[in-house]
Amino acid sequence: EAPPIDADFYDIGFKLSPEDRALQLKVRSFLEKEIKPIVNNYWLHDDFPFEIIPKLAELNVCGYVYEGYGCAGGTSLMDGIIAAEFGRIDPSIATFLGVQSGLAMGSIYICGSEAQKEEWLPAMQQLKKIGAFGLTEPDVGSATAGGLTTTCKRTPEGWILNGQKKWIGNSTFSDMVIIWARDVDDNQVKGFIVRKENPGFAVEKIKGKMALRIVQNGLITLTNCLVPESDRLPYANTFKDTAKVLQMTRAGVAWMAVGCARGAYENALAYTLEREQFGKPIASFQLIQNHLVEMLSNLTAMQTLVFRLSELQDEGKLKDEHASLAKVFCTLRTRDIVSRAREVMGGNGILLEYNVARFLADAEAIYSYEGTKEINSLIVGRSITGYSAFV
Ligand code: FAD
Repeated sequence: EAPPIDADFYDIGFKLSPEDRALQLKVRSFLEKEIKPIVNNYWLHDDFPFEIIPKLAELNVCGYVYEGYGCAGGTSLMDGIIAAEFGRIDPSIATFLGVQSGLAMGSIYICGSEAQKEEWLPAMQQLKKIGAFGLTEPDVGSATAGGLTTTCKRTPEGWILNGQKKWIGNSTFSDMVIIWARDVDDNQVKGFIVRKENPGFAVEKIKGKMALRIVQNGLITLTNCLVPESDRLPYANTFKDTAKVLQMTRAGVAWMAVGCARGAYENALAYTLEREQFGKPIASFQLIQNHLVEMLSNLTAMQTLVFRLSELQDEGKLKDEHASLAKVFCTLRTRDIVSRAREVMGGNGILLEYNVARFLADAEAIYSYEGTKEINSLIVGRSITGYSAFV
């Protein structure tokens, strides 16, 4: 008889306290009951399931690591485990939460004033207000550190923002977007809370994506968009401050990739145990077992890596290069795992209803967002050699 399918080969779950394990299982059972049955259809129609937002709020995991403002003040390790549970069922919903909880709330938590935190964090923790994070531009993706073209200028009435932001997740329906713009006076990058009702703010949905189709990405245009000084993030004064947010969220993306890989592997393993060819389960063939073991080896390496990554985070020792290495390694290995998962399922591997095709497509976007493989590799390369090879 085949053992139960729970791809935690080195028993990392054993390291969790009973309370943390209970939270992990609560999140898992919510996702299996409420999210798994609906996501293929929403993915197919490029649509977002707004009805799940109140249920997600009840789970109480948004803003999990922050202290105060209604947030749980939990560990980065549990935050990562939660991200992986979401990724295991659906990388789009995981991304929705990653943008809300990590990028948008994180920008306010790390760079915001007390008044901004009090206004936004409790409401965002409860998902009563939705946020987005606008860094990438149509012509500036990898080069955002030195090359942002969206500008801000201080005037007596407030700040005037001009430019475009592309790919901005949640922005078609969010209440606000954190916008990163270059100050024309001091040439430094500053961060702003731009509300959807601000004059000069417009957003258009990006259509035709072949990955993370549930995530609603927008193209934002800022035309003399007026933002009051009270909505400027006071502790975002150079790109180094933006990078503090990205360090935290890149660690989260590494965990999400682990979840995506795990979801694909578990579905593929179950399929190979059921599916028979030549009168035997295909799982009994040596070449299929080789694929399964390759997938599990990579998955186990990823799981142990992100576990230590979060320990570093909880010990206050995490550096940009640690987060970048994990992001590169996990998203690269995930691409290999989802592709093998599809392969062992033959033709059914490309049908949405068999629950691997979605992971196969979604892995492509996770691989490229929050810094591509090349950019994150260059961050690690710079730290180990002392040479910056970006330009
Ligand atoms: P480019 O920068 O044009 O890169 C193209 C290729 O050139 C890549 O392979 C890259 O690695 C390579 N390259 C570039 N520079 C170098 C170099 N110096 N050396 C070697 N190779 C190099 N952004 C946001 O701000 N907010 C969001 O919410 C958001 N969500 C996203 C969701 C999705 C689904 C996607 C696809 C993207 C999202 N992004 C978001 C944008 C994402 O972060 C960018 O796509 C990413 O940073 C890469 O930028 P680019 O697409 O412009 O590629």
